This record gives sequence, structure tokens and C-alpha cells, in this order.
Amino acid sequence: MKPLFVQVNSRDNVAIIVNAEGVAASAEFSSGLRTSEAIPQSHKVTLAPIEAGQPVVRYGEVIGHAKAEIAAGSWVREDMLSLPMPPPLDELPLATAVPAPLAPLDGYTFEGYRNPDGTVGTKNVLGITTTVQCVAPTVNYAVERIRKEILPRFPNVDDVVAITHTYGCGVAIDAPGAEVPIRTLRHISRHANFGGAPLIVSLGCEKLQPARLFPDVRLLSGSVASLPLLEADPYVIRLQDAELRGFGNIIGAIMRFAEMRMEELNRRRRVTCPAADLVVGLQCGGSDAFSGVTCNPAVGYAADLLVRAGATVMFSEVTEVRDAVHLLTPRAINEEVGRALIREMRWYDDYLLRGSADRSANPTPGNKRGGLSNVVEKALGSVAKAGSSALMGVATHGDRVTTKGLIFAATPASDFICGTQQLASMNLHVFTTGEGSPYGLALAPVIKVSSRTALAERWHDLVDLDAGRIATGEATIADVGWDLFRMMLDVASGRRKTWADHWGLHNALAPFNPGPVT
Ligand code: CA
Repeated sequence: MKPLFVQVNSRDNVAIIVNAEGVAASAEFSSGLRTSEAIPQSHKVTLAPIEAGQPVVRYGEVIGHAKAEIAAGSWVREDMLSLPMPPPLDELPLATAVPAPLAPLDGYTFEGYRNPDGTVGTKNVLGITTTVQCVAPTVNYAVERIRKEILPRFPNVDDVVAITHTYGCGVAIDAPGAEVPIRTLRHISRHANFGGAPLIVSLGCEKLQPARLFPDVRLLSGSVASLPLLEADPYVIRLQDAELRGFGNIIGAIMRFAEMRMEELNRRRRVTCPAADLVVGLQCGGSDAFSGVTCNPAVGYAADLLVRAGATVMFSEVTEVRDAVHLLTPRAINEEVGRALIREMRWYDDYLLRGSADRSANPTPGNKRGGLSNVVEKALGSVAKAGSSALMGVATHGDRVTTKGLIFAATPASDFICGTQQLASMNLHVFTTGEGSPYGLALAPVIKVSSRTALAERWHDLVDLDAGRIATGEATIADVGWDLFRMMLDVASGRRKTWADHWGLHNALAPFNPGPVT
């Protein structure tokens, strides 16, 4: 392969090396540019000399300033750039460049499980909610037995999942911020893929009482001997209740309720639903400098297709939006939505400040190995996932999204925390990766898209879709975007299994707790 770079914007004075083996010193590109040193794949080469103090431009935006002069054809490493200030939040244009509505896209459907509340499941799963970590091993023990002894008798049920977490007790439950994990767990417990009322296992003495988790509904509990059959209300099994005598009795109670719920779930059937019923959560993890050129723009293209089909698409990860927020507030459908986006950025700035940190704490060693110099470059590549449509709404941490179109759902960027929070709403997850992560979730299918072909080849049985073809010119952003859109419909229909589901790779749930622990 001849020396090849990819320049995203005509204003850019740096570009990314495409060649898998990198380029040697004195390599000549077709433009006539010659490298002054060897440069690895996905790292940046200067297209023109950059004087000290001058901006380094990628995606048409300033990603930093040169600390000293950088000659043309040089390898731009992270320590050669100074980090720019984040866009000031009180000077942002609101709803000043609202994109025109995209042309409707009709006729695309998937086979899903329609629920009475209007949500649609992409899997048929029994979920067992826990109110506190203390009961998690007990519930896990019961789940193992349920999987062996009960699940095989219900062929229409995909799985049984314990919603376990580290929250529930030893926390300042009335402190500001406590509502975040509680809200997240509340919505996850009513996930579209569970199809009905939550089954709750509580200890009894914990801070997060079941009535606090579900304040608006009647909770049933009581004697195991007088169970209400197929009751639609959430049911609570409280381990400290007097009638539960011994571990065997406790496991028996959980299994008996599980079996009743499974009888209900086993009657669910997939029906044809419009693509509008998809609620897709987008996320990146282990990004590299290609992410913003290949997988994220392809996901952005697919996001536009989903918006055109009437679906809901969520992008998240506050610290990866913060430095690109000035590109998003003009796209807000109205000033109120723009202000809500700024509110979430400000909340997170304050949260990081309390920990004596800022958004520069975001990039990982892997990100830097993959050629990303700093959080600004990472953010500019990350927001490509948001496509080109108007921003229709903003959801705060752990809230359930009900608006259609493109939504910013605030979450931390941490993969497993972001995924957990998006589960408050999403029935399908798209995860882009450059460095590679075997990430998956038990509650919703996770489609993994690689930024580079080398990763898709090395992890041929973990990566679902290769967007690296875009960098070498073998496919366009639109080609991969359409491939992803069709794959989403197949996966949501259960016609195609993601690799994470094939292997049963399911990360632990990790609700975000910004509040104090006691
Ligand atoms: Ca992430």
C-alpha cells in the first residue's frame, strides 16, 4: 500500500496515517508531502509547517496550539500541543442553525415485543431487580438455578438477568445526586425487554426501600403461601420477612415468582413494528484517531437514517461532548433545548471540579496510543455520532427518554456507566471502538463497530461491523451507515445475534452515583 493519509476538512493542517504498518521516514504521499520521521498508523502528520503558538486544526476545528514550531511531514505527538480552553458556556449560540427536517424514511420495520406502555422489546428477558448489593449473591445463586431448572421449559424466553449493582445502602440517600442512581435503577427495572412489572428482591433494612424505588405504584409482598397469581404490580420478596425461614426457603420464593413471571413472558410474541419504535443508544469506547473518520461518521449516517424513520437516537458522554458543545447548541431545535444541553455541561464541569479534575482527565493511555492527542480531538471525533439532524431533546442522568429524534442523554463517558444509564431508555446499543473492547450488556443487544479493519480482522468474532473500509476507500460513510442500519433492524428482530450475545459477554451494571457514601 502506498503512503496514505486522510484529511477530514480542507482547513486542517494535520491528517491521519491510514497504512496499517505506518509510514517510514522520507515516505512520499501522492500530494508530494514527505515525512520527516516514521509515523505509526492513526497518528497525525503535519501537512504544512506550524509555527509556535499557532493552532493545530483537525475536523476544521482547533485541537490545540503548537508549543514549538512543527515542520511539515512531522509526527504530531500529544506533548507537542497545548490544550485549548473549553468553549465558554455562557456565550454559546442557541438554536441559531437548526437543520431542516430530514426527508422521512418509510417502510423499514423490525420484529419486536410490543408492551402495554407503548415501548417495544428487542429481547424477551426476565429481570430481577435488587434494591441493595447485600442481596446480589443470593439473587445470582437463584438466577443460576432458574437458568438451569426453569428457563429450558419456556422456549420463548431468552434469558433471566439479575439487576445487581453496588448501590442501595451506606449512602446519603437524601443528598443531591442520590436521585441519579435511583432514577436509573427505576427505569432499568421497567426495561422494555422485561415486558412487564418488575420482580424485586429486597433485604429489608436497606436505605433504598422498594417504595422509594417505585414511589408511584402499589407494591405487593407477603406470605409465600398466598401469592397473587400473575399479578401485574411489582412484587417484592423481602429476605428479612418472618415467613422466609432459611436460605432454601428464600431461594424457593425467588424461583417460584420467577416461574410465574416466565409463564407471562413465554406468551409474548414478536410482531412487526416500525423502525420508529427503536430507541438506540450510541457510545464509543477505546477510541482512536480513526474513530472520528470512519466508525463515528458511519454511525452518524445511521443516526440520520433512524431519525428519518422516526426513531429515537441518543448520544451521551458529557466529557466527550463538552469541547464540541459549540457545534451542537446551534443545532438545538429551540433555545430551551440548547439551554438544557448547557445545563448538563455545567453540572458536569462542577462535578469534576469537586474532584479537583477537569475534562482533560478523560483520554486513556489507549486513546493516546491510538493517536488521539487530547480530549478536544476525542470530542470532535465523538460527536460525529450525532449525525446532522436537529437536537430534539436533552435528558438528564438516568432519565427515560420519550421524545423521538436525536437526543442528548447525559451520562459519564465511562463505557459501563454510560451503557447502564442509557439502559434507562434504549432497546438497542451501538458501540464504536478503535482500540477494541469485548463490551456487552445482558439487557439489550450491543452492536460493535470497529474504526479500523485491522481490529475487525484480529477480533473477527467480537466486532460486528468494520467501518475501517472507509479509510482505505473501499466503502463510503453512506455504505457503512446503511449496513449498520440494516444490521440494527436484524439484531432488534432477533434474526441476527451480536457477538457479545453469542459469547454471553455481559458487563456488570454500574449506576452512576455522584452522591456521598456513608
Ligand atoms: Ca464511552
